[in-house]
Amino acid sequence: MTVRDWDAEIDAWTERFRHIPDPPPVFAAAIRDGWDPDERRALAEDAQAYATQHEGWVAQITAAGWDLVRLDTRGDECGACARYSGSPYSLTGETPGVPPPPPLPICPACRHTLNLLTPFFMQSTGMDAGDLVRDAVPYEPVD
Ligand SMILES: [Zn+2]
Repeated sequence: MTVRDWDAEIDAWTERFRHIPDPPPVFAAAIRDGWDPDERRALAEDAQAYATQHEGWVAQITAAGWDLVRLDTRGDECGACARYSGSPYSLTGETPGVPPPPPLPICPACRHTLNLLTPFFMQSTGMDAGDLVRDAVPYEPVD
């Protein structure tokens, strides 16, 4: 289990979201009113719980032999995470030209998911390897 330094991340993201459109509501409120210590602690705990759950999911699907996933934001993305919405990613690196996924959560407030791009799904939507490479948005850490 990877434990991230959420205190440091929340501080850094609070500064970033001053300059990014569409911050998550919890950050918009903190920028307006300052952090409520309870809300901040709850956000950090929830983000770590989500990261742990996500890490377990990725380990499971990787162990099961899956490689291709797509980042799904369900229309609930903030200004920092939005650019990765719908991007394909390669978990194992075995698909040339398709980058590894970002660590989730990207920002501490968003709860995006990686969903399997199964051969059946790709075939049924007419998607091929070239589309994946074209649609891929490599993750760039904000700092
Ligand atoms: Zn976000």
